[in-house]
Amino acid sequence: MGKGFFNVPIAVNEPVKSYAPGSPERDAVLKTYKALFNSQVEVPLYINGNHVTTGNTRTMSPPHDHKHVVGTYHLAKQSHVEEAIATALEARKTWSQLPWEHRAGIFLKAAELIAGPYRDKINAATMIAQSKNIHQAEIDAACELIDFLRFNVQFMTDIYAEQPESTTEAWNRIEYRPLEGFTYAVTPFNFTAIAGNLPACMALMGNVVIWKPSDSQVYSAKVIMDVFEEAGVPPGVINVVFGDPVMISNTVLASPDFSGLHFTGSTYVFKELWKQIGNNIHNYKTYPRIVGETGGKDFIVAHRSANAKQVATAISRGAFEFQGQKCSAASRAYIPSNLWEDVKRYVIEDVKSFKMGSPEDMSNFITAVIHEGSFDKLAKYIDGAKADSDAEIIVGGNYDKSKGYFIEPTVIVTSNPKYTTMCTELFGPVITIYVYDEHKYVETLKLVDETSEYALTGAILSADRYAIDEATKALQNSAGNFYINDKPTGAVVGQQPFGGARASGTNDKAGSAQNLLRWVSPRMIKETFVTPVDYRYPFLG
Ligand code: NAD
Repeated sequence: MGKGFFNVPIAVNEPVKSYAPGSPERDAVLKTYKALFNSQVEVPLYINGNHVTTGNTRTMSPPHDHKHVVGTYHLAKQSHVEEAIATALEARKTWSQLPWEHRAGIFLKAAELIAGPYRDKINAATMIAQSKNIHQAEIDAACELIDFLRFNVQFMTDIYAEQPESTTEAWNRIEYRPLEGFTYAVTPFNFTAIAGNLPACMALMGNVVIWKPSDSQVYSAKVIMDVFEEAGVPPGVINVVFGDPVMISNTVLASPDFSGLHFTGSTYVFKELWKQIGNNIHNYKTYPRIVGETGGKDFIVAHRSANAKQVATAISRGAFEFQGQKCSAASRAYIPSNLWEDVKRYVIEDVKSFKMGSPEDMSNFITAVIHEGSFDKLAKYIDGAKADSDAEIIVGGNYDKSKGYFIEPTVIVTSNPKYTTMCTELFGPVITIYVYDEHKYVETLKLVDETSEYALTGAILSADRYAIDEATKALQNSAGNFYINDKPTGAVVGQQPFGGARASGTNDKAGSAQNLLRWVSPRMIKETFVTPVDYRYPFLG
């Protein structure tokens, strides 16, 4: 910064619009939805600011209407990925030297573009691409992405302001340099906000990026790129390639200039990428930063003192919103025997009241799961539960992929606390419940801690403070985001930094300064004012 210590706007969370019947935002988003749904878009690669078409394309279809085509996207060859890397490294020469206030200005502008002129489009695109109902689209594609962009600017300046002590003899300064080389963002299908944030936060800190979105999110990724372009992200700073993830990752990770991976997705893929980075370690110019937020097997534990209606609501919302396709979605619950009959009745009532169908019909709470692979996997586990003697489906259990990938919200009750669906991440609208002896709370907490390899989110519901304290201690390492008397989903940027440990990731807390710190390499500068001219110290006489 040259000529001032600039204050950035104080970050505030974007208010969530209601989309209630009769509201102007409801009409506007539906109009945009219809226009997008009934037209076709062509999505190019983005390399050095150019829209690159390769002739090798794949079609895009909404999960709730999979025979309907809303466009095509172009697939990269290895040479495109290599070009994107070369381009990024060239762009780095100017981008990494640009004063921070200009980087801040670009991403603050992106936030306001989404809050205003692009809001309907990014929400409608997310409803189409990922089959989100309007509320789920609004809290993700609009609000969370806006929040990431605004708060990251504030976090960046907080980091820059973190400086060492100086003395009268020497002035100590830390410069938060971007990483040397280029970075790689690999993003999941389920959150448009995560897709935008992973490349944007690295670019904000002065890095250049190759971004590989999920095949199932390309349609809404295009809107993110439209916004970044209009906001003024210069050519070559964020380059986007679609296509074979293995080829793209092999090409990226083979480059000696690869300097950081920002990944969100499944645990297996992340571990494979980590392994590959390890295998290539002798080839890199620097030690690459590795940040990954991955799977979860998120829990709800109710204590015998809990309110049954509150427990049931935490299950209905926590497990089934966005068809359970949130990394934080509750997928196993432990209910004490004294509450079970009431919780069961309320949950069944709730689930039976859910309407399922296209997000265009705004009375639908449940829409489709993301793709056929996910549908088939969920159907297999549901069939398994129907056949297994230690499992019982108490509501749901049907599925139909004739028009869209629709899985009925399903509640499995098991007598075996280690039943397969108590341990495995299914990533769909299925929760498994284990009813425990109300007097075996301590043993149950131990069980919760030991049942899964993951440690992302979890919730305790209780009216008893001692029981809450007991759970907080016993489950200290079982969740990176722990909720007391709430559902385990719905983290808000700037309020609940998000991430888990164990197999759930590196826990670098998206939506916090901690995450941004991973994308800089500090340089310590000591400036001595009166430089010594004699090597002898006084003790030498
Ligand atoms: P996924 O692992 O299938 O895909 C994630 C990304 O990795 C995509 O871009 C995909 O194309 C890419 N990929 C897939 N195979 C690859 C390979 N062999 N090499 C390189 N890249 C590859 O995950 P998904 O289905 O998109 O998302 C769901 C998963 O993401 C769940 O496990 C969920 O828990 C997790 N998730 C975690 C968080 C979190 O914050 N912890 C947030 C969202 C999603």
